[in-house]
Amino acid sequence: MLFLLVGRASAGVMMQAFYWDVPMGGTWWDTLSQKVGPWAEKGITDIWLPPSQKSQGGARSMGYNPYDYFDQGKYDQLGSIETRFGSESELKSLIHKAHQAGIKVFADIVINHNSGGDLEYNQVAAKNTWTKFEPASGKFPRTAMDFHPNLLHSQDEGKVSGYEQTDVCHEQPRVQDWLWKKSDSYAQWMKNTIGYDGWRFQAVDKYGAWVVKDWLLYAGGNAVGEYWDSNKWTLNSWIDKAGGKVSLFDFPLYYAMDNAFDGNNLMHLVDAGLVSIRPNNAVTFVANHDSDEIFNKHLAYAYILTHQGYPCIFYRDYEETMDKNALNKLISIHEKKAKGSTSILFVDNDEYIAQRNGDPGLIIYINNSAQWKSRLIKSKYKSTRLHDFAEYAKDVVSDSRGEVQLWAPPHGYSVYSRY
Ligand code: ZN
Ligand code: ZN
Ligand code: ZN
Repeated sequence: MLFLLVGRASAGVMMQAFYWDVPMGGTWWDTLSQKVGPWAEKGITDIWLPPSQKSQGGARSMGYNPYDYFDQGKYDQLGSIETRFGSESELKSLIHKAHQAGIKVFADIVINHNSGGDLEYNQVAAKNTWTKFEPASGKFPRTAMDFHPNLLHSQDEGKVSGYEQTDVCHEQPRVQDWLWKKSDSYAQWMKNTIGYDGWRFQAVDKYGAWVVKDWLLYAGGNAVGEYWDSNKWTLNSWIDKAGGKVSLFDFPLYYAMDNAFDGNNLMHLVDAGLVSIRPNNAVTFVANHDSDEIFNKHLAYAYILTHQGYPCIFYRDYEETMDKNALNKLISIHEKKAKGSTSILFVDNDEYIAQRNGDPGLIIYINNSAQWKSRLIKSKYKSTRLHDFAEYAKDVVSDSRGEVQLWAPPHGYSVYSRY
């Protein structure tokens, strides 16, 4: 994708470097420190970490209920010094190791709501609310006026968040200062002191798109948002509102792939996803920490790692449940072959053949039937020996007009390209 290509020869592959309920005990940053070197060798260019600030629940929290943004495992509050994942110095050490390996690190930014405040009298709500935050870091203390409702207005323009008392008000100047505007704001401190390179914004549908736009204006960095919706046009218009540079996770493609691969109708892949209309702003994925519905994952990974969009691999799939060798071949194909625009050459219920038209490009043949399949197609390759870089089918040779007989294994795929 365009803005991630700056200074980089390859298009890039992200790893979501956690899953829900990773082991407790403050060891996760150290676990990842051992992984980033091997991942970089296989072609991983970016990792996305879980929210690393101290949260309600302390050392048990997965980070999605933030309390003190400036406590990354350094202050004794909420029952522990370390977070579930480790200490601030272990986090910095992980990020340093990632940088040495050439990997950029995305922070998970949870700024729609807060959790764990104390009770105080709220003059606007005219009752007691859990809106008093006195963080041990001493930075960004909050009261009811930093949440909704307040003296400015009763709510923000996002969807209802389900956090009535602690839905952060980004319109408050002091909230903007603390979160992204000041030189020692959360955003700039995460970048300059902790070492993060980019941002993954949680639940961007629940607050104004201008927040992300303004954050990037002040803090810079690449960004991807979580807008959980199956409509690609809804995502497309949010990207416009957020300034056009930020990407979104491709939930529309995720649901299309579920229908295509599990529902056994590959026609669902035609014009599927945000990636079909805005490939440079689509982060494609097969599973994540809170949604894991696609059963035929090897076909879905073959799809996202050969198509346009910026693919994100889920830690658990790569490290625990899937054939790592097969995924590594697809990552290599993504970095070396998957160039240019996409043309679908053939599709029906159980066969899908698409070509990437760049140089060298590729032809992906997905077969979701129980037998080997074969088809004669017209490709861009003229009089060329084509090799299946997924290593399932035999080499084939195209004729002078580009016609070639291709093969794909049962419930599998082949990825042909030239040497
Ligand atoms: Zn507000
Ligand atoms: Zn909100
Ligand atoms: Zn499914």
